[in-house]
Amino acid sequence: MSSKMPALFIGHGNPMNAIMDNSYTAALKRAADSIPRPEAILVVSAHWMAQGTHITCADRPRQIYDFYGFPDELYQVKYSPSGAESFVARIEEELREEGVTCNDKWGMDHAAWAVLVHMYPDADIPVVEMSLDMGRDEEYHYNMGKKLRGLRDRGILVIGSGNIVHNLWKMNREMDAAPFAWTIDFDSYIAKALENNDHRALIDYKNAGDSAKLAVPTRDHYLPLLYIAGMQEEGDRLEFIYTGLQHSSMSMRCIRIG
Ligand code: ZN
Repeated sequence: MSSKMPALFIGHGNPMNAIMDNSYTAALKRAADSIPRPEAILVVSAHWMAQGTHITCADRPRQIYDFYGFPDELYQVKYSPSGAESFVARIEEELREEGVTCNDKWGMDHAAWAVLVHMYPDADIPVVEMSLDMGRDEEYHYNMGKKLRGLRDRGILVIGSGNIVHNLWKMNREMDAAPFAWTIDFDSYIAKALENNDHRALIDYKNAGDSAKLAVPTRDHYLPLLYIAGMQEEGDRLEFIYTGLQHSSMSMRCIRIG
C-alpha cells in the first residue's frame, strides 16, 4: 500500500520560473522532498480550458510551450515523464461516474512542466493532466475536487496549478516589483479563508469585492485552487509552502493540504 498523499496548490506564475533558481523554486524542491514519493501525478491545469472535464490519454503527454516571445532557453526545457498509461485507466475508472473521459486534444502545458521540472527533475513519475470545464460554475469545480479525494489513497499526487492572484493586464515586467494593494488584499483574503476552513468564501470569492475583480479578471488561474480545497478532509493540516508576490499582480502562494 502506498502512503496517503497530500494535495498541493501551486502558484506557477511566469513560465521563466522554470529556468530560474530563486526562493520560490527552492520551496518547490523542498515540498517535493517532504512528501511520500507519488506513483503518479495528476495536474489540474489553469491552461487547459475546455468544454468538459478531460484527462490526457497519452502514455507520455506531448509537452506544450503555451507562451510566446520568451527566450530560447525556455523552449529548450524538455520534460518527458515516464509512462502514464496504467494511471490514465485508474483515474478514468475512479471518475467515470463524473463523466470524465480521456482526450488527447491537449497535452502537458507549462502549468505542469514548469513546476515539475523543479519538483521532480528526473521526470521519473508519470504525469496526467486534467482540464477545467469552463462552462461550469465554481461549485462544480469545488465538488470535482471532492471526487478526487480517493486518488490520495492510490498514491496519486494531485496538484492544482494556477495563481490566486493573476492579472496579466496589470502586471509589471519586473518580477520583484512592489505588489498592488489589491494583490495583497485578495491574497490575504483567500489565505484567511483557507486558515478558517471557510470554503464557502473560496467558492464565493467574488464577495471580496473590487480586489476580487482585479485579482481574478478571468477564472482560469483561480479555479485549480477550488479542486485542492475540495480535496481537504477532516483533520488534514494546511500549510503555506510558499508565500510571495511577483510582477505586482501575481500571487505565488503555494498550499499543501494533508
Ligand atoms: Zn499560467
